[in-house]
Amino acid sequence: MFVDAHIHLSDSQYGDRIDEIVAIAKQNEVVVMVANSMNLETSKLSLKLAEEHQGLVYAALGIHPWNVNQLASSELELTVDFISESVALKGKIIAIGEIGLDPQYAKRKEHKEQQGRVFNEMLQLAERLALPIIVHSRWSAQEILGILPSYGLEGVLWHWFSGPLDLLPRITERGDYVSEGPPVVFSDRIQEVVRHVPLERLLTETDGPVRYYGPFKDKPTTPAFIPEIVRAVSEVKKITESKVAEQILRNFADLFDVNKSLLS
Ligand SMILES: [Zn+2]
Repeated sequence: MFVDAHIHLSDSQYGDRIDEIVAIAKQNEVVVMVANSMNLETSKLSLKLAEEHQGLVYAALGIHPWNVNQLASSELELTVDFISESVALKGKIIAIGEIGLDPQYAKRKEHKEQQGRVFNEMLQLAERLALPIIVHSRWSAQEILGILPSYGLEGVLWHWFSGPLDLLPRITERGDYVSEGPPVVFSDRIQEVVRHVPLERLLTETDGPVRYYGPFKDKPTTPAFIPEIVRAVSEVKKITESKVAEQILRNFADLFDVNKSLLS
């Protein structure tokens, strides 16, 4: 049984293919997917998908750093209100995400400030609602590590963490988790990350519909990639595939506090 802890099911590229993606997940024994969001609109869609595919799809709602510069006026406020009101739908919203910082999308000073403001607002929301966060940390892991201790968070998932490697001990000692996707099959760097993350702190993801290279070139990204990702993790860590899959499912349940029944 496999886990896709980070996929953008609300992306327009999946659009009317959701039933097909759900069927592919089931065929490949992916028993749980976390539908991540980018803004208010995709937060609404992620939640709708979680309602429509109960037990298989869970929602992570929030504002992605790439979207901060295009936020409509009052969108931040409306998103916070929407998430706060919807959280009563117990068990469907399992995290605030995808949130974080990305300096490539904040070259101007005012953009950087705005990104920081939105991220801090999302962290406050996660603290208030007692939800874990799913964090985007490209070129910003060090800065994010400096910010997180200001908040009492239920848990942190560092999605597609790619470095610097020397931050990994600090991340795992905090009790945070790291999720890796298709690059673990073909990227030396991501294999190095996986080597340094204890299996008890690791999750798997596709980040679909993002496209990949290597054996995934020209293939649309779906949860069908997850078994190959688990196989690659198993090779890197020299632990059997079934043990890797089992531990990842347990990690999922521990971090997001759901689906404990899957483990029995
Ligand atoms: Zn993502």
